[in-house]
Amino acid sequence: MTVRTRFAPSPTGYLHIGGVRTALFNWLFARRHGGAFILRIDDTDAERNVDEALQPILDGLRWLGIDWDEGPGVGGPHAPYFQSQRAAGHKAAAERLVASGHAYRDFARPEELDEERKAAQAAGRPFLYSRRFAAFDDAAAARFAAEGRTSVVRLKMPREGSLVIDDAVRGRVEFAWEREQDHVIQRADGSCLYHLASVVDDHDFAITHVIRAEEHLSNTPRQAFIAMSLGYPLPAYAHLPLVAEPGSRTKLSKRKLAQYLKNHDFKQVMDHGQKIAERIGLAAEADTFNPVIVDFYREVGYLPWAIDNYMALLGWSLDDKTEFFSRDELVQHFTLERINSSPASFDPKKLWAVQDHYMGQLTIDDKLALMLPFLTKAKLLADPPGADAVATVRRVIEASGERLKVAGDILGYADFFLVAEPPLDEAAVKQRLAKPGVRALLEQAITVLGRVEPFAPAELEAACKALVEAAGLKIGDLIHPIRVAITGKTVGPGLYDCLAILGREQSLARLTRALPLCG
Ligand code: GLU
Repeated sequence: MTVRTRFAPSPTGYLHIGGVRTALFNWLFARRHGGAFILRIDDTDAERNVDEALQPILDGLRWLGIDWDEGPGVGGPHAPYFQSQRAAGHKAAAERLVASGHAYRDFARPEELDEERKAAQAAGRPFLYSRRFAAFDDAAAARFAAEGRTSVVRLKMPREGSLVIDDAVRGRVEFAWEREQDHVIQRADGSCLYHLASVVDDHDFAITHVIRAEEHLSNTPRQAFIAMSLGYPLPAYAHLPLVAEPGSRTKLSKRKLAQYLKNHDFKQVMDHGQKIAERIGLAAEADTFNPVIVDFYREVGYLPWAIDNYMALLGWSLDDKTEFFSRDELVQHFTLERINSSPASFDPKKLWAVQDHYMGQLTIDDKLALMLPFLTKAKLLADPPGADAVATVRRVIEASGERLKVAGDILGYADFFLVAEPPLDEAAVKQRLAKPGVRALLEQAITVLGRVEPFAPAELEAACKALVEAAGLKIGDLIHPIRVAITGKTVGPGLYDCLAILGREQSLARLTRALPLCG
């Protein structure tokens, strides 16, 4: 049997972190077994422009390297892969279900159903439709229609016994049929409902494994009933544990995660993202500035594999120890058996650590290729950038070492090299320049730095040390003001590297320009 899995997003306009986990697990399982991973678009109930709402999902998956063998953009033997374009097959299935007696045309009016529902409630028993207005033959249908009634198609669900599935994650799961309603599968206007469409499409695509979020577990009995009634073999099911908020068991939501990030010790993750977002003109209230959506991570400059690697560990583990996997290793080791059924708590701090690990493995050239587009986007570089500017950025990256945690960090580390007159941070000026004695010290520094040969980090360091020693000061007394004078702020690559990258002429010009601000 060839393994065939699918990810079936609705075109919502964004790719949620939980969706990434579902897509990734389906992808991994298909790759692990040399099977096919299919992308199906569940757009039966789409109200908005499907293309527009789908693009961020496709872009997000591509960015993460989760490639699909069949689906939008690539086609495949079972096209179309948009559910809305498969309506004829769904309708034919509804007709077959009616013909075989597994479904019926129901002519009840909403208020008649409400009455029954209320009566059940009053009697304290679960609501089960009496099927009073069910037409099991044409004569009954004609009679109801003559009363001016319209009909929907409902499943004629079993009312005794149970369905048992062997879920690959949750083990044996039993569903009592009496708890299932006669679900509607086709509306009065002839359009079919999602659950019917999903089952028919899964069968048409020859899906062997339905791997999806836990919230769909409760849909399984009605879907299995449809499949069995149509004579389809049931796929294997694997219901993935909930992706929960950090340190909790409740579902990950945008608002709560943002709150959590703000309140807890890794506030820096959020602040960091916020700073970068501002630099690239992404407003904090923008839809994508949202840590439960993949775009957020792409826009602040996480590495896609860091996300994949971290997401793989949301509910799955190899041995509870190994944290870092290459793509091949993950494909090789991934099994459904090792998926845990309890909620997996999304931990941005852990993701940050995984990101740090992979960032540390990049070469200078890798980082350069990754970071240049951030600078271009922020208009700190021309498009395409000049060779000198690229060489400067390269040196900044080298000098910054491990301080660049996400690609967007380059914005705050390279900006002052790329503009002629960087703005001076007011607080930094007050703290470092406006103090008594600083002016005299910087004047001496200008003289000393005018002579250093070569104008290189080691020589600059020696010269600065000699100067403070002679003046009976500490090194911090000198390098902090120099940093603010030449970069405009208090953070950046090492000071001697900054001076060397700027060069003698620029460094001295900036120091001279800062003198009037000094105390
Ligand atoms: N379109 C459904 C969703 O967005 C897919 C459900 C399934 O995987 O069966 O969650």
